[in-house]
Amino acid sequence: MTRVLPPRVQRVADLVVSQAGGYLRNTIREHRVTCAVCAAPVDGYERCIPCSGHASSAHRTADRVASLVYAVEYDSQAYKLVRGYKADNPGPSLSDMMSSLLAIGLQGHGACDAKLAGNPADIGWAVVPSTRRPDRPQPLRVLLQALAKPGHEIVLAPSPNPVSVRELRPENFLVVTPPPYRPHVILIDDSWVRGGHAQSAAAALKLAGVADVSILTVARVLNPDWAPNVEFIRVRLGGWYDPSICPWTGGACP
Ligand SMILES: [Zn+2]
Ligand SMILES: [Zn+2]
Repeated sequence: MTRVLPPRVQRVADLVVSQAGGYLRNTIREHRVTCAVCAAPVDGYERCIPCSGHASSAHRTADRVASLVYAVEYDSQAYKLVRGYKADNPGPSLSDMMSSLLAIGLQGHGACDAKLAGNPADIGWAVVPSTRRPDRPQPLRVLLQALAKPGHEIVLAPSPNPVSVRELRPENFLVVTPPPYRPHVILIDDSWVRGGHAQSAAAALKLAGVADVSILTVARVLNPDWAPNVEFIRVRLGGWYDPSICPWTGGACP
């Protein structure tokens, strides 16, 4: 069954649907239709090419990944939202919408993530740091400061000289505040393109001793020119956004 969202989150969800339900699209989880990790369209495979590469690496990556919506590059409103909210002057509408989506993910379906992780008593959260503009406060982190999150923050920072930031390289991140014991951390990012950036941060957390890591991103970005995406975008991405659909399962809440 889908989770009944807490009343406070339901009000936020209703607002998201009324303002953006027409252009936001839930991510879809279907075996061999979409990647078992990142929900990108796949042509009959278990995982997409980047996620297959991560799975076969020696690094321990996230135990589960969820994105709330798809964002088709470069002209879609969803894409403009997940890119535009971190511009220098994004305006309140983009920031508010991002904040609302984060609330749906964390407060509406955070319990689903905890359940999938085995309901550990000790939970923390972390933000995937930006490696682009370390000189200014990270807009995603600023938005998250106003939202309820599970447990305490585990601060990650980009290492001084990150290399190949799109590849799986846990050494690109430093775990600044490693807690002595954290069975589960939810790692948050705004968008997922190929996943190397977020998975590197997840692998860094695992190297620091975190037992179980979930990655939650607002949007799974899709390239409309990539052949497997073309039909999928045309045929499957209709309909309105439904905040009660679980981003972790693509259907009912666990
Ligand atoms: Zn994938
Ligand atoms: Zn759920």
